[in-house]
Amino acid sequence: MHLIVKNVRLVTAPGAPPVDIAVADGRIGAIGPNLTGDAETYDAGGRLACGGLIETHIHLDKSRIIDRCPLPEGRRVNPVTTVAPLKPAMTAEDIYARAEKTLKECLVNGATRMRTQVEIDPAMGLRGFGAINALAAAYKWAIDIEPCVFPQDGLTNYPGTEELLVEALKAGAPVLGAAPRYDSDPTAQVDRIFALAREYDVPLDLHLDVGDSTEHMDVRRVLELTEQYKLGGRVVVGHMAKLSLMPPADSAVMARRLADAGIAVTVLPATDLYLMGRDRDHDVRRGVADVNHLHANGVTCSLSSNNILNPATPYGDCSLIRIANLHANILQVVGATKLRELFLMLSEHSARLLNLTDYGLQVGNPADIVIIDATTPEQAVAEIRPPLAVWKRGRRTVTRHSPELHRPA
Ligand SMILES: [Zn+2]
Repeated sequence: MHLIVKNVRLVTAPGAPPVDIAVADGRIGAIGPNLTGDAETYDAGGRLACGGLIETHIHLDKSRIIDRCPLPEGRRVNPVTTVAPLKPAMTAEDIYARAEKTLKECLVNGATRMRTQVEIDPAMGLRGFGAINALAAAYKWAIDIEPCVFPQDGLTNYPGTEELLVEALKAGAPVLGAAPRYDSDPTAQVDRIFALAREYDVPLDLHLDVGDSTEHMDVRRVLELTEQYKLGGRVVVGHMAKLSLMPPADSAVMARRLADAGIAVTVLPATDLYLMGRDRDHDVRRGVADVNHLHANGVTCSLSSNNILNPATPYGDCSLIRIANLHANILQVVGATKLRELFLMLSEHSARLLNLTDYGLQVGNPADIVIIDATTPEQAVAEIRPPLAVWKRGRRTVTRHSPELHRPA
């Protein structure tokens, strides 16, 4: 045994009395009251502990480029056409440096696992994929990073993109994504991406259904193909902002279909709030799908950052807890139960969405432990309480201190 984290409230049982977590060989060896042994100790003082926060959807490769982008004129914004001209100048070094800055912020905000979306197309080549793989290797001590390669600027309308995606898949890209909204033939892109996922046996994580109307929803085709090819449990859809345009009875029907098909949903409140409702100059809709409502209808959900400091999401500090708090404000969430669910959508439920089999504060799992300056998950979300200490595989990776007041003597 080399470490005992004492006096924690487990995120899965915050109402129970505090316990200790003993760590040996990078794994959780025991959880229980009054653990002792010849080990370094950390007293959490009855604070909340979880197995780390999980970014299930974040674009490290295009973070921190807002200063390079012209200000939008008028209400309409198109982050994809804003970023496209910048791509040829993005060297692997430039991508790595920006991604590293963002990753460090994610780490101090308690992330221990991450799926990061990586753009691949002829303008970007495989530079982003290479840079993110190098970054993942360099920060393996602090976080497990899984890249999801995808075509941001279109697939069927952008010759050369599919060949590069295939190259990345052959090189070991573990997840494939899509962005049919930016394809001249969205349904054809979805079909092609499903075909590639089957051929290379990788799970899917698709950007889906941002827009002003529910008339066309790409998720309908995704549902058909997931059921047809029996890919339940291996398909995630991100955004799903159009669900917010439906009456609750209709979105409940859609949610139950998603749950039955085994399709999980990642909601990205900061981006959807910024991009949706651009067709109006007043009475602007919020456009964020309600994860509590989806969860109540059986869908596995996560909340995530999506972007930091770029034209799709100009703001952000990489705090997932802030994202959950933002979601609670936008969706007018009330009550401890729903706030607690939001916290689990940064942690336990996110792990399920990513099919992680070794996540969480359980004996035998890697000792990824995050202490949050709160006693309950709902307090953490309500007050945006920060992580104070993080261990990855039993090794301390982050220390943060609560602010102190210096009273006059
Ligand atoms: Zn995204």
